[in-house]
Amino acid sequence: MLLLSGGKNKIMKRVKAYGCEFCKKLLYSYSGMKAHEDKCFKNPKSKSCLTCKNFNFTGVLNGNKLSPNEVEILKFKTEGTFKMQWDGDPDGIDYPVLNDEFKYLYDAEMQNFCDADSKILTKLKTRCEKWEG
Ligand SMILES: [Zn+2]
Repeated sequence: MLLLSGGKNKIMKRVKAYGCEFCKKLLYSYSGMKAHEDKCFKNPKSKSCLTCKNFNFTGVLNGNKLSPNEVEILKFKTEGTFKMQWDGDPDGIDYPVLNDEFKYLYDAEMQNFCDADSKILTKLKTRCEKWEG
């Protein structure tokens, strides 16, 4: 980048910065980066949800995790409906609506879910006592 000011050509300034080994964040301050890396969500040592095997981004309904089969069905949910292109149909027509049997899945959503607590994670945490690598 070339900055022009006061009739003089100024080139950009080289700065010293420190990068997080886990998330690539950059900070000017060494101590700031030490503090960041310690609590970085991508650093397993922070025992964060993102590095925990109990963390799941999955289909949830009324606070309960869906079964693997229900998660598959939920993939057909688009734009608030369950309309889908039915690949297996030789006529290529729309699969009109979700099978009655699975209509209860209409309100299910993909959510961050903690398997250790069996509940939705509204906020990701670090230093979790239930963390497992
Ligand atoms: Zn980081």
